[in-house]
Amino acid sequence: MTQLDVAGVSKEYPTPSEPLRILRDLSLSLSAGENVAVVGPSGSGKSTLLHILGTLDTATSGSVTLDGIDPFSLSDQELADYRNQNIGFIFQEHYLLPQLSVLENVLVPTLAKGNPTAEQIELAKELIERVGLADRQNHRPAEISGGERQRVAVARSLIMDPLLLLADEPTGSLDRNNASSVAELLIELQTTDQKMLVVVTHSSSISDLLQRQLLLDDGQLKSMNKVE
Ligand code: ADP
Ligand code: MG
Repeated sequence: MTQLDVAGVSKEYPTPSEPLRILRDLSLSLSAGENVAVVGPSGSGKSTLLHILGTLDTATSGSVTLDGIDPFSLSDQELADYRNQNIGFIFQEHYLLPQLSVLENVLVPTLAKGNPTAEQIELAKELIERVGLADRQNHRPAEISGGERQRVAVARSLIMDPLLLLADEPTGSLDRNNASSVAELLIELQTTDQKMLVVVTHSSSISDLLQRQLLLDDGQLKSMNKVE
């Protein structure tokens, strides 16, 4: 069943002359357990698309529905709650808080609703174990490696049990070995937990790990033939 449905989305930025058109009548559907890579040159609108999917930005026209809900029909507070509960983000930078432990960092998204519950603390520990950091739970970000920090960011993206994971160059700051192992881990967790995942990447060795490869070109997503 389709859970993410993007239909006819356009995004324009006003300029003194004619509007700058970034996305043009763009469509995309995803079902639970599906993942897709979005590739394209710098400035092609990949981050703009992820921000719209993540409800951090609005489209100029078109519709986005996630689990049957149009997030843009919600009030600001409802939208913030909706995003917190349904969408997990992973960025190129880990954005871990330096003064917090690994465990506390994974729990940060739960703080929107007050103190984490005992159940959420258990889930955080389980996620930390699944990303291979059980023995690093009480370390601070400065005390673990770059690849490990990004694994913590992966665990944090899953703590609210979201429907949709959005990753913008999630391995862009890592060396090649760490990049593949973080990407493999992200995909393994996403497929096991039947989440939807959109990964923006420059790297063909990362995009090849995903089920579908789409090129963002001239404001639209185009299917790419996988090189065998
Ligand atoms: P990518 O992530 O593919 O590198 P972006 O989505 O960040 O591309 O940006 C796409 C285009 O939109 C770029 O040309 C950028 O300059 C332009 N852009 C992004 N945000 C704004 C904004 N707030 N106002 C005007 N132009 C913007
Ligand atoms: Mg970008």
